[in-house]
Amino acid sequence: MAVPKLKRAERDKFILEAVILEAVKAPRGTRDVLGDETWKWAYVSEICRNVADDYGYREVHLPIFEHTELFARGVGDTTDIVEKEMYTFTDKGGRSITLRPELTASMVRSYIENEMNKGPQPAKLWGIGPMFRYERPQKGRYRQFVQMDMEALGAQDPLVDLEVIDFSMEIYRRLGLSNLQVVLNSVGCPKCRPVYRKALQEYLKSRYDDLCDTCKSRYDRNPLRILDCKSPICKEITENAPAVMEHLCPECAEHFDRLMRGLDKIGAKVVLDKRLVRGLDYYTKTAYEILSGDLGSQNAVCGGGRYDNLAEAIGGPHVPGVGFASGIERVILTMEAQGCSFGRKPENKVYVVAAEPSARLDAMALMRTLRMNRISADMDYMGRSMKSQMKNAASTALYACILGTSEIEKGVVTFKDLSAKTQEELTPEQIINKLK
Ligand code: ATP
Ligand code: MG
Repeated sequence: MAVPKLKRAERDKFILEAVILEAVKAPRGTRDVLGDETWKWAYVSEICRNVADDYGYREVHLPIFEHTELFARGVGDTTDIVEKEMYTFTDKGGRSITLRPELTASMVRSYIENEMNKGPQPAKLWGIGPMFRYERPQKGRYRQFVQMDMEALGAQDPLVDLEVIDFSMEIYRRLGLSNLQVVLNSVGCPKCRPVYRKALQEYLKSRYDDLCDTCKSRYDRNPLRILDCKSPICKEITENAPAVMEHLCPECAEHFDRLMRGLDKIGAKVVLDKRLVRGLDYYTKTAYEILSGDLGSQNAVCGGGRYDNLAEAIGGPHVPGVGFASGIERVILTMEAQGCSFGRKPENKVYVVAAEPSARLDAMALMRTLRMNRISADMDYMGRSMKSQMKNAASTALYACILGTSEIEKGVVTFKDLSAKTQEELTPEQIINKLK
């Protein structure tokens, strides 16, 4: 914000006001997920957890920040993430720290550090939590967002790639999503990629001058990423570019073939997309995305693939791996667009009403008994009249339990069914039995 020319005191006041204004606003690209929405999140993470259990993946909690070096090496310093999207800062000990932009590199780091190679292979891990990327915020794209991520580490077998793809599809199946498309490619390996890279550069050479500036800089450093460029002119240029698929070495071709046969066996419909790339040396063989037809331009609900050389890239031993990450905001947006169910919306069952102020303590005790019996209950803390307590009851609960002097004397409660508009006198035990 530009600071106008003011006297010192005025200037200080101006800055203070600006700071206060900023302080009551969440930073750009972040959002508060509040009570009318969090239950949907709980539902989606519950389904992820169920699927993970059924597929034999164990949940891990990893740090939200890591050494910057991990991502620079593990995600790759020619990617958008590392080039321009990371939240990096120097901590008080002078270390360069980055808020995690994704989980895969951390998962691999954890596998190496905790010597998971000594346990059953592949190690099957999953996690869910916030990721941070400095991006231009728009619908389905935030600076803090939540990913569900799973990784299978230590196995080469294409059947594990199949399990990963199947795992992601199973989550969306259980969430009731439709209109999704699985797009798949193979990006080869360090054996076949150099040959392909040359062929691609050769193809792009004559159109080099028409490429966007970013892609010009990619031409030497990482030409595969040109295939991923969103600019219309670059898209047009690469339309008929040679495909990695046509340059796969026998090992990658066989891996791809076995994966395709597996997908066929489980009846999974996939679309081959020769332009889908992860574009990095340590991403190998399988690359895939799941796209939603109901999301507009931020349409990827999930991205994944194999990265057999990532562990070595971050300074560890050779650990083949494959996994995916899914953006929970985009999953929820798609579910909302498709009218999917999020399970039961939590609501209060009972509102306890004190007919007169002297009954408030008894009302409190009754409410506590109900809660201890796992019947959700609430009451008024604002000293409202009986009439407005009843109004609250009607708008927030299914039943009202009314307590006044006469009820307290008799040891009963006036129990009101707020939708049927019936009422009867019941003991607290009878109410519990009725509602449980
Ligand atoms: P995009 O092309 O949309 O930027 P990406 O390739 O950067 O996606 P990945 O790194 O593969 O995405 O992350 C996996 C998933 O995480 C994406 O498919 C998407 O659902 C979600 N995701 C990625 N970036 C964001 C973001 N800024 N806000 C919300 N969700 C995101
Ligand atoms: Mg991105």
